[in-house]
Amino acid sequence: MNTKTNSSKGINKIIFLILFVVLSFGVVKCKELAGLLPYGSEIMTGIEAIDKLVDVYDAYNREFTPQEEYYIGRTVAASLLKKRRLYGTGDSGLEKYISKIGHTLAMTSDRPETYQGYRFIVLNSRSVNAFAVPSGFIFVTTGLIKTASNEDELAGAIAHEVNHIVLRHPTTSISDAQKNEAVSNLVKFGAGKALSSDKALANLTGLFGGIVDEVNKSVLNGYDAQKEKDADLASVKLLVDAGYNPKGLSSMLRKLKKGGGIHGDPNVRAQNVDNLISSYKGKVPNILTYRSNRFKSLIK
Ligand SMILES: [Zn+2]
Repeated sequence: MNTKTNSSKGINKIIFLILFVVLSFGVVKCKELAGLLPYGSEIMTGIEAIDKLVDVYDAYNREFTPQEEYYIGRTVAASLLKKRRLYGTGDSGLEKYISKIGHTLAMTSDRPETYQGYRFIVLNSRSVNAFAVPSGFIFVTTGLIKTASNEDELAGAIAHEVNHIVLRHPTTSISDAQKNEAVSNLVKFGAGKALSSDKALANLTGLFGGIVDEVNKSVLNGYDAQKEKDADLASVKLLVDAGYNPKGLSSMLRKLKKGGGIHGDPNVRAQNVDNLISSYKGKVPNILTYRSNRFKSLIK
């Protein structure tokens, strides 16, 4: 979270507190007069106004809930799929294999669960790419799968995407302006009550319009250099914890070309990954034969 957000939150809090004191004073005054004057409805309006303010304040000053993140993600995933071809219906050997690697990494990660769980989706595309959509929809192209020489390289690329989800990069990249618009829509919709119902929340998807476009852009164009580096470095630990050789990530990065859907300079990123791996002083898992064999049997 950046300082700008914190300072704007501080200002929001001060504004809210001033409004709260002014309105509370109004209600107390009304209460004093309530016995003498027929001000019942005004008192109620004052209390409701404060309740509403508390709702608005809470709504603006929180992160998206896992459910909201899921509905944003689902909408982004659907819009990405409009222009892309799925490899299959999810039950082919290749799709199951990618899903197995993905779930192994997700379960080992610092965010093993998302609302409705992670999904690993194979796209039929020659472009070498992978991207992570809020709430754990992770797309991997057949181009990327074919570029990998072994399962550890493939796992390196998938671990990077899982860590974008762990670090909540897709939703933290949403600008304050877009977030405020979505939140004000949520508030208008009746935040607290509406969000308790799954069906009502599903209907909110339409309210995320602006956000969906923005997330779409950051998912496809990549994040800033720092976020990419954070996802790379977090992947070293994740790969080691899951029993993969983290050199798979740096060797995969070195195969990627700068530009296109690839974020940052792949060689610089690979070097940063190798620098971190060297701090493990050789204590990293070896490439396992059974993983190499199953990779060879599926990827031609
Ligand atoms: Zn990335």
